[in-house]
Amino acid sequence: MTKYNIPVQVPVGVSNKHIHLSQNHLEQLFGPGHKLTELKPLYQPGHYACKEVLTIAGPKGIIPNVRVLGPLRSQTQVEVSRTDSYLLGIKPPLRDSGDLEGSAGCILMGPKGTVVLEEGVIIAARHIHCSPEEAEALQLKDKDRVNLSVAGERSVIFNNVLVRVAHGLRLELHVDTDEANASFLGNSDFAYILEKSTEKEAIPLVVKEFQKV
Ligand SMILES: [Zn+2]
Repeated sequence: MTKYNIPVQVPVGVSNKHIHLSQNHLEQLFGPGHKLTELKPLYQPGHYACKEVLTIAGPKGIIPNVRVLGPLRSQTQVEVSRTDSYLLGIKPPLRDSGDLEGSAGCILMGPKGTVVLEEGVIIAARHIHCSPEEAEALQLKDKDRVNLSVAGERSVIFNNVLVRVAHGLRLELHVDTDEANASFLGNSDFAYILEKSTEKEAIPLVVKEFQKV
């Protein structure tokens, strides 16, 4: 196991619920020929929040004004927290981005139309992004896992966090609002990589031996 003598500081990005759209769905929801309008850039180069918002509907409720993020993707992906999912009355699985097969469905409502999404709603698994140069400096490869610590009054350890290495991206930890709230994390905070995990998957901690008192 690679253990860093000095923990590696990583900026935290808290992902609120958001929507990535396919070209097809964009036009169904906002009208033929519609183009995404950039509202503000995100921390990751090339990624941006859009002026466009949608309403997500489920069997139990709706969430209006959910931000669309650009650029477009090959498949529509809706990312919500577990708290959001209770409000909607759906049961999205915890997944890595892009792994959508058999995920939950919802209805997306836009100004010019509605899309019934059979699948595509997930609770995104926490992950860190980094560039190939940063990965090399940290002796990490794409799909490695790391353990991170969050300091503060609600200090936690995030185990087996997926590492995603890609050109043009930079070091950042992505957690959802439930994880951020549980650990009092905000967008200007930092987490610290303690070590490379020996796990190749996000295996839940299993307590094999314990005592009762
Ligand atoms: Zn991310």
